[in-house]
Amino acid sequence: MRLDKFLANAGIGSRKEVSKKIRDKQVKVEDETVNKPNHKVSYDSHITVNDEQVILEEYIYLMLNKPAGVISSTEESPTQTVMELIDHPQIDELFPVGRLDKDTTGLLIVSNDGKLSHSLLSPRNKIGKTYEVILKEDVTDEDIEKLESGIPLKDFTSSPAIATKIEDRTVELTIYEGKFHQVKRMFIYLGNEVTGLKRISFGSLMLDEMLKPGESRYLTDEEVKNLT
Ligand code: URA
Repeated sequence: MRLDKFLANAGIGSRKEVSKKIRDKQVKVEDETVNKPNHKVSYDSHITVNDEQVILEEYIYLMLNKPAGVISSTEESPTQTVMELIDHPQIDELFPVGRLDKDTTGLLIVSNDGKLSHSLLSPRNKIGKTYEVILKEDVTDEDIEKLESGIPLKDFTSSPAIATKIEDRTVELTIYEGKFHQVKRMFIYLGNEVTGLKRISFGSLMLDEMLKPGESRYLTDEEVKNLT
């Protein structure tokens, strides 16, 4: 990639600003001053601006503990977005892998890896997503059986879920699709109402309970490997 693109993507400044720095001889590649913005570099090139190393990550994988009241969008909005909770120099490349409703909390993967995102969200791959669901009414054994055989909704029938009653009004539910308001609609079908929804896992990845709502961290290499 071009040196000016590398620096701009790393958050050093606009293409125009970084080109000026390059022409002003503030930038070195492999310890040599370079004065052409179109000089070719790669992710593992050693690049410095005024002798400070600039790192551009090729693939970024974060887990965010999404709080209630923020939307899963990359577009600017009057409502706070999940992207505004993340402080990363390459923020413009990142996007949430799938969406959680505004009032849903918990595990959201944020990445710049379109291929991984596609594979995690593809209905064909039937990746399990587990939610802790708080309900308005008590859940019956019959409800659990219905969840585990599949719930007919307007646009599709849910795959057999894994449902465990934790308390009278709390269920741990694993579903294998990610349709709009899916969990809420499944419980409406059962004559109940979701009053709290938190995602606690996505495939092999578990929400790190050390993360406070609104906090994020990098996935470990092991976590990334197990997801792919
Ligand atoms: N199901 C829902 O109803 N909402 C979510 O945010 C996620 C799953």
